[in-house]
Amino acid sequence: PSVFTHEFDTPAYKGKVSFDTGIFLNGKFVDGSDRTTIDVINPTIGKVITAVSEATPKDVDTAVDVAQKAFDTAWGLNCPGTQRSILLAKLARLLEEHADELAALESLNNGKTFHWARNADVAGSIDCIRYYAGWADKISGQVQETSEAKLTYTRHEPIGVVGQIIPWNFPLLMLAWKLGPALATGNTIVLKPSEFTPLTAIRVCHLINEAGFPPGVVNILTGYGNTVGNAISHHMKIEKIAFTGSTLVGRKIMEASSKSNLKDVTLELGGKSPNIIFDDADLDQAVKWAAFGIFWNHGQTCCAGSRIFVQEGIYDEFLKRFTEKARSIKVGDPFHPHTTQGPQVSGIQLNRIMGYIQSGKEAGAKVETGGERHGTEGYFIQPTIFTNTSPDMRIVQEEIFGPVGVVIKFKDEDDVVRQANDTLYGLAAAMFTPNLNRAIRTAHRLKAGTAWVNCINQFDSSVPFGGFKQSGIGREMGEYALHHYTAVKSVHINLGIKL
Ligand code: NAD
Repeated sequence: PSVFTHEFDTPAYKGKVSFDTGIFLNGKFVDGSDRTTIDVINPTIGKVITAVSEATPKDVDTAVDVAQKAFDTAWGLNCPGTQRSILLAKLARLLEEHADELAALESLNNGKTFHWARNADVAGSIDCIRYYAGWADKISGQVQETSEAKLTYTRHEPIGVVGQIIPWNFPLLMLAWKLGPALATGNTIVLKPSEFTPLTAIRVCHLINEAGFPPGVVNILTGYGNTVGNAISHHMKIEKIAFTGSTLVGRKIMEASSKSNLKDVTLELGGKSPNIIFDDADLDQAVKWAAFGIFWNHGQTCCAGSRIFVQEGIYDEFLKRFTEKARSIKVGDPFHPHTTQGPQVSGIQLNRIMGYIQSGKEAGAKVETGGERHGTEGYFIQPTIFTNTSPDMRIVQEEIFGPVGVVIKFKDEDDVVRQANDTLYGLAAAMFTPNLNRAIRTAHRLKAGTAWVNCINQFDSSVPFGGFKQSGIGREMGEYALHHYTAVKSVHINLGIKL
């Protein structure tokens, strides 16, 4: 496998990075069995950064074998929680020591601004791993007081080898959300990052070694979804799979489970989240949060507030200010300190999003601002706002996953709850109002896994995150995530029942 070397000479970060790439198998970096590679693109300029090894289904088999061996010897029930906690805490510290470098790699490969990569992706990843380090020695079952003739208790045992597949929008953060709970509970891992954004995951493999995790506990296979992802989801010896990505592929993951070994499935999928601005909202704050809700991470956020519902009384004023705010977004080089929006992740995404913008225009929606590609180099899109939409339009119903929001007028609480829930998705919802009665009523009526009041796109390692309806199954983060990585065993011990 090759060594990736890059000299960063940007306003945000200066320094040279150099590390082995390859498939991370049993603690070593190796070529894929076919010795093929995948080009990694810099979306800011649309050019190849490097090529990384491409794993194959055969490599998945090897990874599962080494992960099983690690589970049976050095990890799982053979490694006390206190030791797992120490290793996770070390990993968190190493992530912290390499925070700027990781943020720079994330910006380079994904196109997100260095500022947000450092303060959201990397900071959130450190926090997540540290949080689960705290849980590793606190996993325990219960004793059931059944009868005096019997001792009955449960054990929360690790599942074994788990498969994990993650997307490109938060490459490092999604890695951390997956590794944290799985390792804290004693599982071993075969993980596939997105083929578009493998660099931070590969870099983290070095830190996993440095932290001292036994070889084979974490195996990271860079490869494509229809080969490596498909092999993981169909694997007969993987008992659990955690997937983050599109609803389309989420269906395939479930189908693969049912067609193989009925592996346990958790899914974090797409969304079309409502953001509701009531007429008593602090307008200045609501405008800023609404822009953050849809334009943060260039709209490539599963829980983006992409349907912005505004109450009639403030609709005109809100729209005026919101459009001004969108126009003030600085689109450009993600390493430049003034940039607030970098490129979309790939040419495919650029075309997909431009297709949605086109469909909105053709369906008769009005472009308030944006609506075009930004520049000709790289994959930039102007922050775009549509109005005059109707509920059946694709831009209202489907996840665009780009900097494109629709602003929709509503009358009252009943009207907005009905409209907001009129979607196949149910990942998140936000609302702006100082009236707490109204906020709590609305938060409880919305069919969504997260409800934000007077904020949006807020996360915390201790707070579960996941979807209702077709936005997913299960929860990540918090104590809730641990339950998906343990199998409950009930033990009955006879203390005197005679036959
Ligand atoms: P995607 O579904 O195309 O890909 C996700 C991952 O699945 C990638 O690693 C990909 O290689 C792999 N994959 C593709 N085909 C596969 C197959 N047949 N079998 C197994 N694996 C396969 O999604 P994406 O474009 O990378 O990411 C964007 C999507 O992710 C959006 O829909 C977004 O909403 C969602 N997302 C959800 C959350 C959440 O927590 N709910 C978080 C981030 C992203």
